[in-house]
Amino acid sequence: MTYQPKLHIGEWLDAGGRELLPVENPATGVTVAQFPVATIADLDHALECSARGFSVWRTKPALQRSAILRRAAELMRERKELIAGLITLEQGKPLREALLEAANGADITEWFAEEGRRAYGRVIPARQPGIMQIATVEPIGPVAAFSPWNFPVSQAVRKIAGSLAAGCSIILKGPEDTPSSVCETIRCYIDAGVDADALSLVFGRPPEISSHLIPSPVIRKVSFTGSVPVGKHLAMMAAEHMKPCTMELGGHGPAVVFDDVDPAKAAAEFAAFKFRNAGQVCISPTRFFVQDAVHDTFLEEFVSIATKLKVGVGQDEASQMGPLANKRRIDALEELVTNAVAVGATLHCGGERIGNQGNFFAPTVLSDIPDDARIMQEEPFGPVALINRFTDEDEAWQRANATAYGLASYAYTRDGDRAQRAGEKLDSGMVSINHFGLATAETPFGGVKESGYGREGGIEGLDAYLITKFTTRRHYQ
Ligand code: NAD
Repeated sequence: MTYQPKLHIGEWLDAGGRELLPVENPATGVTVAQFPVATIADLDHALECSARGFSVWRTKPALQRSAILRRAAELMRERKELIAGLITLEQGKPLREALLEAANGADITEWFAEEGRRAYGRVIPARQPGIMQIATVEPIGPVAAFSPWNFPVSQAVRKIAGSLAAGCSIILKGPEDTPSSVCETIRCYIDAGVDADALSLVFGRPPEISSHLIPSPVIRKVSFTGSVPVGKHLAMMAAEHMKPCTMELGGHGPAVVFDDVDPAKAAAEFAAFKFRNAGQVCISPTRFFVQDAVHDTFLEEFVSIATKLKVGVGQDEASQMGPLANKRRIDALEELVTNAVAVGATLHCGGERIGNQGNFFAPTVLSDIPDDARIMQEEPFGPVALINRFTDEDEAWQRANATAYGLASYAYTRDGDRAQRAGEKLDSGMVSINHFGLATAETPFGGVKESGYGREGGIEGLDAYLITKFTTRRHYQ
């Protein structure tokens, strides 16, 4: 065992008599850590800290909060090897990708440190003389946030940096599959000078934690990243208590490739993006619609890349793709691929687990997938590409939009008018054309339909933690 994840509630807490649950290395199945399960008393303590922390943190001048967050970003950069090593150990992605994720965490923190200084209000001209009308923004209050295991650091940071920059306190329930890198990320913020009561970290049994925190009168905002069913459940709980939510749920990214592009080049670029983090990415391109004339070359090239991809442990420099983060994904993928083949899809490569140690799953390419295959509607969240052909542009948009999801969509074309239509016709929160330009700190990130609501990046990501207050005043007469 190399690392001992801890709860942070006002201070770092030793496991004490708390129940400990194992964390597995997904590449070996070996237990590499044990996380403490927060008790109800711990959660009540976190709520008290968060209420107290909010009253302290919100009154700090924005400039001071900004300096602390900038320092947290610096610490993340200084400690990126440690943080990235823990990501790879528990989540499985190649170390190279984990280092990028740690750097991204610092980048997001720094951006919010700056943006928090620009939470402006406005003066609204009054209808009578002697009256002042102002709209100001205030931090919404203590936040309950739930972050997932696929990007343990960057997904947590979007919530932490956004809420702290706005002046909120936050209780984060980190991902139980990958707790250690989240602990080290929180440590950067605390060491940088964030008030210890303003930032709590808990792990435990997710339903127990969410059903205790969300209804609490202390909590004023809920932020969740994860699956659609859990998101709906938490949103319903929040609605009962009239609490606003940011819901960043799954996606089933369509990618429309037109016949005016070089199909081999497009396939190479898409494949590199598809197999990043073994496809466990909510904006991963998954349903490809490729125009007739370039379909066969695109498919051939994609399969050739997928077959040659070096799958291995994340610490090995040669590995291009690591294992899946947990056994649940293997079971889900095997079921979806089996169903697709049973209803008529052609399997070109992969479709099964590699070996019997760790959660390795072969890069998988299917083609001619019937619309009624479950995998065309259910997010595989793994290294699976679904390649279908299309003839007419309108047909492509219609099929691309034919799921309950609407997170990220992609199109490749040289035609400017068509590219503009892609932006208009694709029914999703984000559209990326001829490249993969999503998820930077300064751009809005989020979906429509069952992919959720609210945005995490950009000025919208700060706004998510602010409320507008209107004050009007007349000269005393
Ligand atoms: P899951 O539905 O069991 O859990 C999803 C996430 O929600 C996990 O982080 C989990 O800890 C949390 N969770 C579960 N029940 C909860 C509750 N009652 N209260 C609070 N949090 C709760 O699925 P999983 O097997 O962990 O992940 C698989 C699915 O989740 C994928 O199909 C994918 O759609 C989705 N997912 C999406 C993202 C994303 O970036 N949007 C990230 C991770 C997982």
